[in-house]
Amino acid sequence: MSQGIYDTIWARAQQLLPGGVNSPVRTFGSVDALPVFAQSASGPHLITSDERKLIDFICSWGAIVLEHASPVVVQAIIRAASQGTSFGVPTVGEVDYAGLVSSLVPSIEMLRMVNSGTEATTSALRLARGATGREVVVKFEGCYHGHADPFLIKAGSGAANLGVPDSPGVPDSVAQSTRIAQFNDLESVKLSLAPGDVACVILEPVAGNMGVIPPEPGFLEGLRELTESAGSLLIFDEVMTGFRVGLGGAQGRFGVTPDLTTLGKIVAGATPAAVYGGRRDLMNQIAPAGPIYQAGTMSGNPISVAAGTATLNQLASEDDFYRRLEETGAELEARLSAALSRHRIDGTVQRVGGMLTVFFGPSKVRSWDDAVHVDRERFTRFFQGALRREVLIPPSPFEALFLMEAHQGVLEESSLALEAAIGDAA
Ligand SMILES: *Cc1c(COP(=O)(O)O)cnc(C)c1O
Repeated sequence: MSQGIYDTIWARAQQLLPGGVNSPVRTFGSVDALPVFAQSASGPHLITSDERKLIDFICSWGAIVLEHASPVVVQAIIRAASQGTSFGVPTVGEVDYAGLVSSLVPSIEMLRMVNSGTEATTSALRLARGATGREVVVKFEGCYHGHADPFLIKAGSGAANLGVPDSPGVPDSVAQSTRIAQFNDLESVKLSLAPGDVACVILEPVAGNMGVIPPEPGFLEGLRELTESAGSLLIFDEVMTGFRVGLGGAQGRFGVTPDLTTLGKIVAGATPAAVYGGRRDLMNQIAPAGPIYQAGTMSGNPISVAAGTATLNQLASEDDFYRRLEETGAELEARLSAALSRHRIDGTVQRVGGMLTVFFGPSKVRSWDDAVHVDRERFTRFFQGALRREVLIPPSPFEALFLMEAHQGVLEESSLALEAAIGDAA
């Protein structure tokens, strides 16, 4: 695609789609760049419409953990699609899939499939409210749980980039039922729980939507105890961390079991489906087993079931998948930290499993209060330096670089490019 044709398509996109895109972060606006248009992808590479071959660390925002166009997953999708794309009656496949997910994720005894992470968190919140008879939800500043009204308050990357902390269109009456606490700060949670009106505390157990912030030792355990004694439910939003920080997600990795869990992205093999699930006594309150209503025409569609099943089976069958992902991550982390020091740039690299953020500025980021101080201009130079060297990273300082298995084969060239891009940021 020549520059002229690119300009035409981008102009047309902006005429037809708000901001030219179907999801805000895709504009690349916050890094003074124009978006790349994907034509195809395979292995670790994304091929753009103007035929550049980029090493991809966006990974469909974490949904890809094996490789792009994994033959196992693609074959499963083709097979399923050729037998019908939606039935509106149950399938054997979705029952097997539910068994597979519940065998891997500690908190999940029963689950319901939905179509997006947003729908999973929204449904889990309704369940928490219905089951406790309370209304208030406690969320953490900088955590993102999809775009439903109750969660669009202090919600991290997307909104932070646009400089709109709260979206117009979210009624005050809804916002009033959301109470904000600080990540890694149990005192702020205690205060939020004190009135005794909290249905649930929801969080990303490893924060990813304000850049990667690990839970400090004792934080998740503390939340488990505090919610239990307050009679509130604990929801882990593992849409990003599920199957990315370990086969059992963050709950498996840190050994803390929430009451409810939401999953998306990897769980459906990078197709449009997601899951919420958890304790049997809670899930049995969902219609038609119980009175709390939630439904979906496309829920459990056979294409997503096939893609999810193929992906999870692959992850579960490769013995040392997560050890190797961890090794790739550790090497990249070490090299990027060394590059920061070599170029005398203040900052830090934070990583858990297959997700990693380079923060320019703060020496440690433990909550949104730290993240907000990142040097956005340095990050912009880092992003542009990487892209010039054919490496695509998320176009926001408040996001993670995501790793996939296929990065193992291009680790050296990606590390060199990203180290040089850090040099550009100096
Ligand atoms: C991506 C994400 C969501 C939203 O999922 P969608 O499928 O985009 O609606 C929710 N929570 C977390 C933690 C996410 O990373």
